[in-house]
Amino acid sequence: MGAILIISPSCATSSSPVINSMNIFFVSAEVAPFSKAGGLADVAGSLPGALTPYVDSIEIITPLYGQIDRNQYNIASTDISGEVSLGEEKIPYTLFKAVHPNGNVPVWFVESDRFYSRPGIYTTTDGEGFEDNNLRYFFFQLVVLDIIQKQTVKIDILHCNDHHSGLLPALIKGIDPEIKSIFTIHNFLYHGHFSPEELDLLPVSVSSLLNETQWENYSSLLEGVDHADLVNTVSPGYAQELLAGENVDAHSYKRVLNARAKFSGIVNGIDVEYWNPELDQFTPHHFSQDDLQGKSKNKLELLTRCGLDNDLESPVLGSISRLVENKGFPLIVELLDEFVARGAKFVFLGSGDPSIAAQLREAALKHPGKIAFDDGFNEPLAHLIESGSDMFLMPSRFEPCGLNQLYSLRYGTIPIVNRTGGLGDTVADNGTSNGTGFVFEPYDLMPLRGAMNRAIDTYQIHHEWSELMQRAMAMDFSWDQSAKHYFNLYKS
Ligand code: ADP
Repeated sequence: MGAILIISPSCATSSSPVINSMNIFFVSAEVAPFSKAGGLADVAGSLPGALTPYVDSIEIITPLYGQIDRNQYNIASTDISGEVSLGEEKIPYTLFKAVHPNGNVPVWFVESDRFYSRPGIYTTTDGEGFEDNNLRYFFFQLVVLDIIQKQTVKIDILHCNDHHSGLLPALIKGIDPEIKSIFTIHNFLYHGHFSPEELDLLPVSVSSLLNETQWENYSSLLEGVDHADLVNTVSPGYAQELLAGENVDAHSYKRVLNARAKFSGIVNGIDVEYWNPELDQFTPHHFSQDDLQGKSKNKLELLTRCGLDNDLESPVLGSISRLVENKGFPLIVELLDEFVARGAKFVFLGSGDPSIAAQLREAALKHPGKIAFDDGFNEPLAHLIESGSDMFLMPSRFEPCGLNQLYSLRYGTIPIVNRTGGLGDTVADNGTSNGTGFVFEPYDLMPLRGAMNRAIDTYQIHHEWSELMQRAMAMDFSWDQSAKHYFNLYKS
């Protein structure tokens, strides 16, 4: 295999801020707190702010979805508007602007009645994917190109994220070869597959810059991998897995291997102000490493809120997740009866696959007072689960980085994880000297059962559990180190 650049937090270099001209335009389909479906939003909402000390400027662009509260965030209309062509149609857009509430990063919003004014990011409130999602993100990328062409923003580096901006690294070269591009893969599972007919809607000047447009499984994600000047993913472990072809089909693997010389992994950081047990706006009782009293009060609050038996002795295992197969639900549901019988309680928060939701609902009905399931997306409850649970269940089959295990460590909520991708990079097993959680492998029922049993056994030994919580809470996953790695990517 050729040169593979794997960047891990341990090889951080201290770099002096600001070299030459470094103006970054960060393109993301989701940005917390405005719009969030998963971890991409958390990263887009916190990484740019962490990069401000290092770069000349960084600005974000994202769609103005219908449910975003313009008043709450002071999102104001600008006098910048335009139109882009899709097939025969010319579709207008207007730019709105705000300052990100967590810092001083300007955020541009693309308003379009046709594509974004309805509520929902990718799906209706019932969880149905929008039929025109491909067109919605074609349009988004064409607007980004339009405003770059009109020099509305000053750009040296275009930072694209996931398939929603996967065409841009190719397209930007057609406009201004001086602008460099970085493509960050937050999840290789989602390609943004278009049909050749859909691609025909792009102006020829645009589609002629792309690869493999006649391929029936055309992938916007792979286009980003092919054309970006640098490609990274969100943990060294996941980068290695992709380069080893794990969970990658043969066609995609060929293209990943072609890109290996420019491929790296940088573990995500977290917003340590927003996810902070000492300050958390959604946590009723604040706590810290030195004073954990609030944590058990939060546990009581969580049990009451979820209608579970109010006994503080038995362990509570929390889960906050998109309901998809690869988050480990097929294993979890198999083990619920057994662990309820062992005295454990479970709190699940999630939305997604209706069949997984049905299984969790059924488990909650079968075990009243022991299992709770909240079907939906609920930010305050997510924080209460982190602050009130004893353990966090995250046995993903694969996980590019994962953020909830990082929030869990910070809240002393001990993660139980499969050794994969970012989970393996960020959680050390309790059997090792600096263990912070319970790590199992391979992805299977028996290993997960073993890790859960070990966790509950340890929970019952009070001083061991306290030490484990202390080690977990002492971990630092702020953006400091990872932002330096992104800065180094920008430099290179
Ligand atoms: P992914 O990006 O694959 O969904 P991550 O662990 O990287 O997984 O990030 C998920 C983010 O979305 C976390 O901030 C998590 O708390 C949040 N999240 C997921 N599901 C829900 C939900 N139902 N309610 C509130 N927050 C959720």
